[in-house]
Amino acid sequence: MACTLVVYVCCRFVLVHRLILKANDLMVQMHMPALFIGHGSPMNVIEDNGFTRRLRKLGQELSRPKAILVVSAHWETGGTRVLTHKQPETMYDFYGFPDALYATTYPAPGAPAEARLAIEALKGISASSTEDRGLDHGAWAVLYHLFPKADIPVFQVSLDRKISFQEHFAVGKMLSSLREKGIMILGSGNIVHNLGRYHPDVDAEPFDWAVEFDDKIKALLVKRDMAGLIHIEKSGAELAKLAMPTAEHYLPLLYVLGASDAKDALSFPYEGMQNASMSMRMVLLNR
Ligand code: ZN
Repeated sequence: MACTLVVYVCCRFVLVHRLILKANDLMVQMHMPALFIGHGSPMNVIEDNGFTRRLRKLGQELSRPKAILVVSAHWETGGTRVLTHKQPETMYDFYGFPDALYATTYPAPGAPAEARLAIEALKGISASSTEDRGLDHGAWAVLYHLFPKADIPVFQVSLDRKISFQEHFAVGKMLSSLREKGIMILGSGNIVHNLGRYHPDVDAEPFDWAVEFDDKIKALLVKRDMAGLIHIEKSGAELAKLAMPTAEHYLPLLYVLGASDAKDALSFPYEGMQNASMSMRMVLLNR
């Protein structure tokens, strides 16, 4: 009798163990989202507002990725680089902010194995690896609220400052297969980003041109008009010049779009403006 009980318990244990392994497999195989976040001022790290509260809630709604690939507006290089550091430092790549911000860290581990998968996916453009930096604030300031435990491995892919909008979109497409390998693709920038017209009050009335450009991008996204989104500088050049005097905060959106396709559902987890001249719009592509 005792022997039968032991055999029964062992069989149950093996079965439960196999089910757990299977669940882990499924999680890894699940298609991870491609997500664009408007990060705005670094002050969002230490402030509590509608944007930061939405980020915290979104982190609870999303499936937990095995690793996160970040394309940030704040890493521009000659050629495409991939961060392979196994424990990247928190970078304070901003100036003149309160001490509390410089005392905040985001000690997530790096993801060298997943970074190597990205380098492999980008072999057509000979992306190179680097360990010579940490996580910039475009990456950690949003992850700080999205995944506050800092326990999901993170790595970054840089923006090659010499390539065209079309080529940035193509690099995003090369990275799309990583989503099937448990890696979430996170673009961090701002659809409207004009620091020259920045208002110190986070809730300042947004400029009409800022709202107009943000609405225009939303309409193109809803229509899935990729050509319109890629060649945005050519349509309504004056408006684009005001909304994005430089391109680096817009470009991470092209990576997220390149890494997605028609099978992904499109949603905007957050829409809104901060400091009169920054769109905080989030764009989620998920299936
Ligand atoms: Zn920024």
